[in-house]
Amino acid sequence: MPELPEVETFKRYLDSTSLHQRITDVEVRDAYVLKHVSARGLARRLKGLRFENSHRHGKHLFVRAGEELWLRLHFGMTGWLQYLKRDEETPNTARVLFRFGNNRRLAFDDQRKFGEVELIEDVNEFLQTRGIGPDALEISLSEFKVILEKHRGAVKAILLNQQLIAGIGNLYADEILFRARMHPATEAARLSDKDLTGVFRAMRHVLEKAIALKTDFNRLPKSWLLTHRGKRGRCPRCGRALKSATIGGRTSWFCAHCQKRSA
Ligand SMILES: [Zn+2]
Repeated sequence: MPELPEVETFKRYLDSTSLHQRITDVEVRDAYVLKHVSARGLARRLKGLRFENSHRHGKHLFVRAGEELWLRLHFGMTGWLQYLKRDEETPNTARVLFRFGNNRRLAFDDQRKFGEVELIEDVNEFLQTRGIGPDALEISLSEFKVILEKHRGAVKAILLNQQLIAGIGNLYADEILFRARMHPATEAARLSDKDLTGVFRAMRHVLEKAIALKTDFNRLPKSWLLTHRGKRGRCPRCGRALKSATIGGRTSWFCAHCQKRSA
């Protein structure tokens, strides 16, 4: 499921392929992903405009079209972007295609169709209405501490809560806590100042490193949990069998030896 690093990677891909070209057509192949807009409405409002720039917040990507319209993309479980060459075949799972003046197409591909495509006028208003918290890479250490100190519950549940911190999903939350050597069920209220700083630093490191590697699974460090998590997985640090538990409503993987509940 695309989390902050994946969406940032899609943003950079879109920026490098799809800006400043006239949109000549929008083909909706499956209207299921459209939110609050019809296929005809989407095409009518975008035709003739250009994507001018983009902005990522948490797991949402906002692409400005013309002066005052934003295309909002959310990638759900399986969404991603593909810039298709002139004769390149359209993938079966492409749900929306933005065609440009040069005959190239940007495909919003989404096999499982949990993604969202919408037009909005105001990014800040959207974030406020949805109650989406500050972006995980924009937040400062002191803001991070305030959020964790103010809220009860497992530290992992707080990292996953998009209304508190936006962008982190199940996989990267586990990775961050593995790096911080903290058990995911640790009560946030019991964390020391040092613990909080440790989780914050781990969060920044994991997200930035994943972005730098373009979230390519094969390039992720072998010292990361991500490449080992799952049944029969072993801790890359101590070699013991990894454990799983449902925390914050999601299956968490961790090493019970290396990741302690804070005393
Ligand atoms: Zn271990």
